[in-house]
Amino acid sequence: MPVCEFTPSRCHVNLAALRRNFARLGEAARLMPVIKADAYGHGLLPVARTLADAGAQRFAVGLVDEGRALRDAGFSQRIVPLLGQLSPEDWQRARALDILPLIAGPDDVVRAAALADAAHPWEVAIKLDSGMGRLGFTPEDIPALLEALRAAPALRPALALSHFAVADTPDEQPYTLGQLERFTAMTDALRAVFPDMERSLDNSAGTLAWPQARFEVCRPGYAVYGGNPLAGTDWADKGGNLEWVMSFSAPVIQTRSLAKGQTISYGRIFTAPRDMRIAVLGCGYANAVPRALSNVLPLRLHGRRVPQVGRICMGMMMADISALENVQPGDRAWLLGGPEGPDAPVTPDDWAAPLETIAYELLCLVGMTNPRVYEEA
Ligand SMILES: *Cc1c(COP(=O)(O)O)cnc(C)c1O
Repeated sequence: MPVCEFTPSRCHVNLAALRRNFARLGEAARLMPVIKADAYGHGLLPVARTLADAGAQRFAVGLVDEGRALRDAGFSQRIVPLLGQLSPEDWQRARALDILPLIAGPDDVVRAAALADAAHPWEVAIKLDSGMGRLGFTPEDIPALLEALRAAPALRPALALSHFAVADTPDEQPYTLGQLERFTAMTDALRAVFPDMERSLDNSAGTLAWPQARFEVCRPGYAVYGGNPLAGTDWADKGGNLEWVMSFSAPVIQTRSLAKGQTISYGRIFTAPRDMRIAVLGCGYANAVPRALSNVLPLRLHGRRVPQVGRICMGMMMADISALENVQPGDRAWLLGGPEGPDAPVTPDDWAAPLETIAYELLCLVGMTNPRVYEEA
């Protein structure tokens, strides 16, 4: 994956925490960890290797190309591309690499059937729309789907999957129950013909909060990387033991004094209320630190939380280190995670809340923008 190497910031990926989260989510043989989007920014191959060592037998990726990268690296797990096959080449590659094609509409049955025959059957994954309104067959489509599959005996539906829209929202329980009901009805109809077909509905929130929707296979993504999709809800405790896998650090470039009344950085949005000590850090919005967090971003130095001050620049930002002794150039500031200290580590949720977004987005951006280092801790 192309990551800009010209930055002193580092994205740290703790593979031991990844392994522990995976174990917390259930029996490895019943999980299909989602490693799309470069494993949510954590790196496709190192994450796949760690999960395979922990017993993963299936992977959900986004693209057939990600499946190809896994096959090239020697992985023999069952692989499903959640976005489907986007070109004739994708179809050919999926076939050649024994990737389960996503069958998300009537055309897909025809395309898959053209690449299989009685002597060379092909296992496929049937995508069902139980209420997400994105990809897949709706309940009304099932009779026609069954007919199309009857005409394509070389296709072996090995998995049916559907995706929850609001499984992380206690107030939306009726909608989630409706999805569960529709998925159950659709898969009952399919399993009357294909009794060995596995079912998969639960995402991370479902795996944690909807045990009645586990079926044969759960598909957690976010929780594998330590995110609690239930954070901030009444159900937060259900994901309370997960550990963030990603940390993010940048070095102190210089320390300096700022006199009371002086301003700092572009736009002069911060004026020193008193004489201060300032550290200039080597990362900024070019490293996926949202500029919208200027004057808001918490970060940690020497285990203590200190405020970021002034506009975040492209490759630099400033922090108020007046409360700290003896900060030196080369010391590492922790924008996320980092070693134990007197103050709590900053989490992706701490960034997401003021931005009114979700930590998923920040993991992807930080992980795909900064050089990654892999650690076992
Ligand atoms: C991304 C995705 C998942 C995983 O969702 P999380 O909330 O990260 O657990 C599961 N299934 C599908 C179809 C997805 O697109």
